[in-house]
Amino acid sequence: SIIVFGSINIDLVATAPRLPVAGETLLGEDFFKVPGGKGANQAVALARLGIPTHMVGRVGPQNFGVELVNNLQASGVQTDNIFVDKNVTSGVAIITVDYAGENQIIVIPGANGRVNQEDVKRLSHLLPEATLLLLQLEIPIAAVVAAAQAARNANIKVILDPAPAQSDLPAELYPLVDIITPNEVEAGQLVGFPVDGEEKAAEASTVLLQRGVKCAIVKLGAKGVFCATAEEKFFVPAFPVHTVDTVAAGDAFNGGLAAALFQGFSLKQAVIWGTAAGALATTRPGAQTSLPDRFTFDAFLKE
Ligand code: ADP
Repeated sequence: SIIVFGSINIDLVATAPRLPVAGETLLGEDFFKVPGGKGANQAVALARLGIPTHMVGRVGPQNFGVELVNNLQASGVQTDNIFVDKNVTSGVAIITVDYAGENQIIVIPGANGRVNQEDVKRLSHLLPEATLLLLQLEIPIAAVVAAAQAARNANIKVILDPAPAQSDLPAELYPLVDIITPNEVEAGQLVGFPVDGEEKAAEASTVLLQRGVKCAIVKLGAKGVFCATAEEKFFVPAFPVHTVDTVAAGDAFNGGLAAALFQGFSLKQAVIWGTAAGALATTRPGAQTSLPDRFTFDAFLKE
């Protein structure tokens, strides 16, 4: 199986003609309540592609915690190792979007912010049966490092999505990571120079390899993906699709990438799977709602 160790959120989305200013009450237009969190998104991406997937993380008893777990289960994710933390709210993102697509977001980490060694212990029990561990940066960094270390000790490969963007990842994390998958903004933050396009992505990947990762994959949005290891460097263009909403494209990419590696495909083929899943996710609105199922995915790849 594949294990995803990370965040589980409920996204509360309000749409309005423009974003409110401080102290202002503004009439909005619509409201959506949708499951999110990069960890949960990646778990759903994998399960929809038919991969046996365990989610390890935390929710709270209030604010949709039970609903979030049920939703993951309904998508086919194993949820036995999601801990209901009695003392806190579930992770919540309060999102305001205006008609131009600009947004303002407040994230309350809640239970996600309390993920710790106990959760790493539960994760460790699953590692003997697993082939891959997927990590992101929406839980405390100490837990991310401990999980990566546990995976390394168990000889399980680690894929780290360094999102949301951070400039100061602990140096000891890089050598524990097999594949790091930043987008342009995240790559820029990690390496300290702007990353825009294939050439800069190649430079950034060199830096990331020097820090100890085995493979760096830079996601370049509608342009595609640059991938580098010590042995090979290659670019894979994005699939041309009719894009309506790029939310969760990155999570879909990581799901597709990991699903292909789980099935024993080559790195190149796995990157192609990632770009296909990412492209498909942009053709539908929303985060988890936009993630393709295996049938849609296979049909798209055959075209
Ligand atoms: P993130 O969502 O993390 O910001 P990207 O926007 O780079 O990451 O998207 C991840 C991947 O999804 C891209 O590398 C690409 O393969 C695919 N993708 C993203 N946007 C598009 C698009 N407009 N058309 C086709 N594929 C896309």
